[in-house]
Amino acid sequence: MDLGIAGRKAIVCAASKGLGRACAMSLAREGVDLVITARTPGPLEQTADEIRSATGVSVKTVASDITTEEGRAAVLAACPEPDILVNNAGGPPPGDFREWRREHWIAAIDANMITPIEMIRATVDSMMQRGFGRIVNITSSSVKAPIEVLGLSNGARSGLHGFIAGLARKTVKHNVTINNLLPGPFETERLRRNFYHVAQVKGITVEQAREMRRKENPSGRLGDPAEFGDACAFLCSAQMGYVTAQNFLMDGGAYPGTY
Ligand code: NAP
Repeated sequence: MDLGIAGRKAIVCAASKGLGRACAMSLAREGVDLVITARTPGPLEQTADEIRSATGVSVKTVASDITTEEGRAAVLAACPEPDILVNNAGGPPPGDFREWRREHWIAAIDANMITPIEMIRATVDSMMQRGFGRIVNITSSSVKAPIEVLGLSNGARSGLHGFIAGLARKTVKHNVTINNLLPGPFETERLRRNFYHVAQVKGITVEQAREMRRKENPSGRLGDPAEFGDACAFLCSAQMGYVTAQNFLMDGGAYPGTY
C-alpha cells in the first residue's frame, strides 16, 4: 500500500536508537525527509547514515536534549514546519514513590508530558493552515496498565494522554491527527537495561530475565522495533485522516482487558 506521504517532512525525536529510530526508518522507506534528534552525536550520525543509504531520503541531525527549551528550539530551527511529528524521549527511571521528591516528578512531567506538548504547540497551527499533519506520541502500555515500579511514567504519561484527548478533536477538521502509540515490551537497549535491573534484583542472569519476560507475553516473544516503526508510519499515512485521539496499544496481547 502506498501511504501517500512521499516528499513530506518529519521530525522524529529521540531517534538514534530503539523505537524512535525504527519510526524514522519506516517513514524514510515511505519517502519522508527527516530531521532526527538524540543527545549523543555519534550514534545519531550513524543512524542518519544508515537511513540515508537504505532509503535515499534527506536526513538532517540535531544533537540536542529534546526535554530542554534550547534542545527543542534547535530542532525547530532545522525544521520549523514539519508535516509529521513523532514525539519521543527517554522514559523516567523505576523506583518507589516514597523516594521521589517534587524534583523527580517535575523531571518526569517535563520529559514525558510538557516536552511533547511544547513540540505540538510549536507545529500544530501551521499543520492546520496547510491542511495536513500527523502527530504520533510514543508513550507506554503503562498508561493502560500501570507498571508498579514505573510510577513516574504511569503518572506523567497519563497527563499527556488526557491533554491529547481534548486537543486531537480540535485539529482533525483540518486533517491534522494526533494519536498515541503505546509500546509493550520491545527489544531495545532500554528493555535490555531493564533485564539487567531485574536480574540483579532477583539474583538471576540477564538471559533468564529476558526469557521470563518473553514467556509471560501471550505472543511468546518480545516486540521487534521494526513492527513499531511500521505502525507509526501507517498512523502518519494519508489514509489515516479519520483516526485521531486514539491510544494504539502494541503489546503482543499483554493487556488483559476486553476494551
Ligand atoms: P532506547 O532504546 O534507550 O532509545 C532511546 C533513544 O532516545 C536514543 O536514541 C536516545 O539517544 C534518545 N533520547 C533519550 N533521551 C533523550 C533526550 N532527552 N533528548 C533527545 N533524545 C533522547 O529506548 P526505547 O526502548 O526506544 O524507548 C523509547 C521510549 O519508549 C521511552 O520513553 C521508553 O520509556 C518508552 N517505552 C519503551 C518500551 C520498550 O519496551 N522498549 C516500553 C514502553 C515504553 P541519546 O541517549 O543519545 O539521547
